[in-house]
Amino acid sequence: MTLQEGVTAEPTQRPAGEAPHDTLEGQIQETARRIFSLTTKPKLSRWSAERWQTEMMDWAMQDERLKVELFRFVDVFPTLGSRAEIARHLREYFGQEGVHAPAPLRLGIGLAAPGSPLSPVAGAVIRKQLRAFAQRFIVGRDARSAVPTLRALRRADTGFTLDVLGEASVSEAEADAYAHAYLELLDGLAQEAASWQPAAIVDQAAWGPVPRVNLSLKITSLYSQIDPVDFAGSVRAVAERLRPIMRKAMHTGAALTLDLEQFRYRDLTAAVFREYDQAGLVLQAYLRDAEADLAHLIDWAEAGRRTISLRLVKGAYWDYETVLAAQEGWPLPVFTHKPDTDAMFERLVRTMLEHPSIRPAFASHNVRSLAAVMATARSLSVADDAFEIQMLHGMGDPIKEAVRALGLRLREYAPVGELIPGMAYLVRRLLENTANDSFLRHTFVEGEAVDQLVQPPQPSPEFPCQPHLAVVASTDPASPSPFRNQPHADFSRREKRDDYDAALAAVRNRLGKPSPLWIGGRQITTKHREASFNPARPAETVGVTSYGGPAEALAAVEAARRAQPAWGDTPPAQRAALLFRAAELMRGELCELAALETLEAAKTRREADADVGEAIDFLEYYGREMLRLGGQRKMGGAPGELNHYFYQPRGPALVVAPWNFPLAILTGMTSAALVAGNTVIVKPAGPTPIIGAQLARILHAAGAPPGVVNYLPCSGGEVGDLLVTHPDVSLIAFTGSQEVGLRIISQAAQHPARDGVKHVIAEMGGKNAIIVDSDADLDVAVLETIVSAFHYSGQKCSAASRVVVLEQAYETFVNRLVEATRSLRVGPPEDPATRVGPVITAAAKERIEEFIEQGKSEARLAFAGGPPAGGWPDHGFYVAPHIFVDVPPQAVIAQEEIFGPVVAVLRARDMDEALAIANGTRFALTGGLISRSPATIARVRREFRVGNLYINRGITGALVERQPFGGFKMSGIGSKAGGPDYLLQFMEPRTITENTMRRGFAPPD
Ligand SMILES: Cc1cc2nc3c(=O)[nH]c(=O)nc-3n(C[C@H](O)[C@H](O)[C@H](O)COP(=O)(O)OP(=O)(O)OC[C@H]3O[C@@H](n4cnc5c(N)ncnc54)[C@H](O)[C@@H]3O)c2cc1C
Repeated sequence: MTLQEGVTAEPTQRPAGEAPHDTLEGQIQETARRIFSLTTKPKLSRWSAERWQTEMMDWAMQDERLKVELFRFVDVFPTLGSRAEIARHLREYFGQEGVHAPAPLRLGIGLAAPGSPLSPVAGAVIRKQLRAFAQRFIVGRDARSAVPTLRALRRADTGFTLDVLGEASVSEAEADAYAHAYLELLDGLAQEAASWQPAAIVDQAAWGPVPRVNLSLKITSLYSQIDPVDFAGSVRAVAERLRPIMRKAMHTGAALTLDLEQFRYRDLTAAVFREYDQAGLVLQAYLRDAEADLAHLIDWAEAGRRTISLRLVKGAYWDYETVLAAQEGWPLPVFTHKPDTDAMFERLVRTMLEHPSIRPAFASHNVRSLAAVMATARSLSVADDAFEIQMLHGMGDPIKEAVRALGLRLREYAPVGELIPGMAYLVRRLLENTANDSFLRHTFVEGEAVDQLVQPPQPSPEFPCQPHLAVVASTDPASPSPFRNQPHADFSRREKRDDYDAALAAVRNRLGKPSPLWIGGRQITTKHREASFNPARPAETVGVTSYGGPAEALAAVEAARRAQPAWGDTPPAQRAALLFRAAELMRGELCELAALETLEAAKTRREADADVGEAIDFLEYYGREMLRLGGQRKMGGAPGELNHYFYQPRGPALVVAPWNFPLAILTGMTSAALVAGNTVIVKPAGPTPIIGAQLARILHAAGAPPGVVNYLPCSGGEVGDLLVTHPDVSLIAFTGSQEVGLRIISQAAQHPARDGVKHVIAEMGGKNAIIVDSDADLDVAVLETIVSAFHYSGQKCSAASRVVVLEQAYETFVNRLVEATRSLRVGPPEDPATRVGPVITAAAKERIEEFIEQGKSEARLAFAGGPPAGGWPDHGFYVAPHIFVDVPPQAVIAQEEIFGPVVAVLRARDMDEALAIANGTRFALTGGLISRSPATIARVRREFRVGNLYINRGITGALVERQPFGGFKMSGIGSKAGGPDYLLQFMEPRTITENTMRRGFAPPD
């Protein structure tokens, strides 16, 4: 039966509210009813695996909490090595308070109780069931094992597109393996497919023969370093790995489609496609700009007289995109109202069908959406075989029956591969099946009435809308909006990449200029000048800074002392306003400031952008904090007495900042001191004075009165002691090495200020560890270790320098970490492909290399990166990543802060030992845990005693307000930066009590 016959041959009675038959809407509804009439709900036998799976989905849909635990259990399951481990996780996931496990599951938990002789049985049953579940969606491990299913599909007049399971590859070795799997698949299937009898419905399209072998491929798996920030490099690398696959596909007559993944890879995928337009591409209807994207694609195809294969989908990453955009503060790329996606799908269907340059495939399980495809095609007189319908293997089988009955070409998307990489796929399918807005859920589970299911989507009033680009207005101290972090640059957007390139060129044009001191509101140049250099190219001078000697240091302290009374008496809201104006100025030149960091501090684009963003955050956050703390608080409630609690500034502050977050930490300490009412003397770090000078310039431009901000690049050796011990310095805020920090604390104690004991806030190093549990997601463990240990060459006090791995995961983790590290590009930070840049100075390089030598005598060196052929470029201060394994806990490289790209991997028998090792240093700054055991997570939260503990993520990149940052033990004294207690350290609390009762009369409250 053809679609035309199917629809017109059996007119059904028109229910009330149904659209007239002679309109397109009427045709769509009629087609949808027809599809429904051809579907039969499957009957499942009591004991079938499918019955059990369906029940599991039902439980998930009835209880959100249970759903989370079910999905997490499915996710961790493949890494559980023994039945006992399965039983333990079963108990931990479903035995938790607040999780209402249904009866069969409760029975399983009971059986899995510790010490129960039936515990292994429970584990075995679960394993069997989950394997069966995976098999519902996954057709085999490889070409050979997939063949029986593919033959069955063909017998059922259904085509296929195979996809090799695997999420992002963490190393180039894994990307090679992924590419190899495709080549094998093509080889394995070519012969098999050639032996098949012709089947016109799947083999023949309006434009000619259709390849029997059809593959789908994710470009992220082809290049481990894929990142839109390095757009051209990523396209090149993917294209290179794709070339032999594409050649083989052409040679064997197979078709290949590039799947579309997260939004950040959308443009990259399109760019790869433009190099290989014999492949097919995917369009996601949930993207707000999908229509414009399709228009560009059609223009491009028509301009080149090409015909392109295009699969229209709604999009599989909705939850991810919405969470990511909210976390990053980015405009949402996807619709948030489900009918908008459905309506966009229908609009795109029409456009695709109208343009002969497109060979369309429509992928959906939504009967209304499918009916829209069919009816629109008919209204445009597009032949039934000029498009195809695609659905996922294991989903919506009754609808497939109907599509086939209507005589349309149907293709199933079917993954092949191992269970572990398959789990992410499985969880996505589960989410899709159980999402509140899912059509399949409404149809088959909730049994919604057909009349309702066929109705047209009702889009929101803004549809079709473009993403809103948030414009951040300057903060008004009288009515500040709630604090929000400055969004990081989204380098998947072309304009951000272009802005950065332009800023880099502009900043480079201005390099080498002299940079003054600021004392008492005046710019001062001195005879003593020091040049600062680009660490990636030491011959390049970034700027020439006037250095202050003892005379300038004394002048700066004097200026701060004189300005103190007036500044201290300035109302808190006015002081906050200074910070808000500075934040606005910084936002205005964010890109250039970041580019300067690339050149002076060797920060890669993301790291530099994040540092400037954090500086802006400190200004915005501390400004608001001062508004919160600035007033007088009334205390107590006793009549006849008035108690006021409030804060006063401490007095002139010395700020001594490090070079590793050259703007953020400098701005954080300076702005906290300022807004609390203290004048400041700012000493920037030796290697980054030009960046520091930008803060001084911006604060003055924002209206800092003379003497309130004194900027004093100087030699710590020459004037450091003078400043620290000066009686007019009341407060010292320091971030840097433990050695200097302790010296400052000791000197401050011995040299009180004129008006009392000096207050010192000191942030000093860390020796931070990540614990990797036996059930850890090793993709996460490896990638997050790489970011935490090697980004910015490990030169962060929060960086991971130890990884404590549980026995069962040790070998695999180490092997993958080594391969992933080998894949990192070490090079100049301005090259967007670079992941690891140079270290800050020649001296730093030397010191790190000494640690590496030390490590060789203490442990086994599993990986030592080295220079590329031809040596390091431009004599930069490079140290490539190094990984030591089997490191004894007391080794020097496991105890001392190295501040370089060197990581020590330590083996632990169990979690007791892992915690003992992790806690076994004199520092307590950051730490991490990668684990999927709820009980272990709960334990480590309690027992891993560090200032900032991160679970299942990297341990660097704390955000102001969201992750207040700072440690204890020898990691520092003082409260967390970017947190609610930070400003209190810059002020002294006072209480004033007034007796308001006179002659027995007390005024009312
Ligand atoms: C053969 C095939 C290939 C596929 N290839 C890809 C691919 O390459 N890339 C990819 O991303 N996806 C792909 N998908 C998945 C697809 O994008 C959909 O997730 C899936 O098909 C569900 O859509 P539906 O029309 O079947 O179901 P429906 O239930 O009608 O729609 C569900 C979809 O609506 C959208 N949605 C859900 N909630 C909201 C909301 N609140 N606001 C706005 N939109 C919402 C989401 O996209 C969700 O998946 C493919 C699907 C198939 C069948």
